[in-house]
Amino acid sequence: MHTFLNGRVEVRTGDITSLRVDAVVNAANSTLLGGSGVDGAIHRRGGKQILEACRELRETCYPRGLPPGEAVLTTGGNLPARYVIHTVGPVWGRDQHPEALLASCYKKSIMLAANHSLGSVAFPAISTGAYGYPKDEAAAVASCAIAQALAQADAIERVSLVFFSEADRDVFLAHQQF
Ligand code: ADP
Repeated sequence: MHTFLNGRVEVRTGDITSLRVDAVVNAANSTLLGGSGVDGAIHRRGGKQILEACRELRETCYPRGLPPGEAVLTTGGNLPARYVIHTVGPVWGRDQHPEALLASCYKKSIMLAANHSLGSVAFPAISTGAYGYPKDEAAAVASCAIAQALAQADAIERVSLVFFSEADRDVFLAHQQF
């Protein structure tokens, strides 16, 4: 296990849906209605309560979809995690200012967790799958954004960064800027 920022950040491999943390972050898409990758895995394992909560948010707050860089919170349904924070990463090559949007995903997710007095949050590598963000560049952006957000979120004790493969984890470790 690799840790940074005096143990407040841990870097690990595995399936994010199996973590018993206060909140897991979902690399969602704007529809909030599910998709592939992490999104599919969270909805499959978390069950229909999560989808119901997403539908309601969509109808009441985001009829045109959740914009990239924003984050919302729902129940964790049947997941071991208590809550899911859904955030929409930038699509590489489509969205302008991808760096600012990716940083915003991490910062707003951490702020949302802090506002709900949650102590532990687990992130997947947002945008680095179907959305095509280069993994080395994403590592630098994510680590800077997390460090900045944690400096203003004392209640957050532990941020876990969860990579699907050891290769992805190693790219992160080589390019992080904690
Ligand atoms: P995006 O659409 O934001 O790119 P994806 O879900 O396609 O999101 O991929 C984001 C990252 O999450 C990828 O690096 C992918 O390998 C990884 N990933 C996919 N499923 C899981 C999972 N169950 N747990 C942890 N990481 C996952």
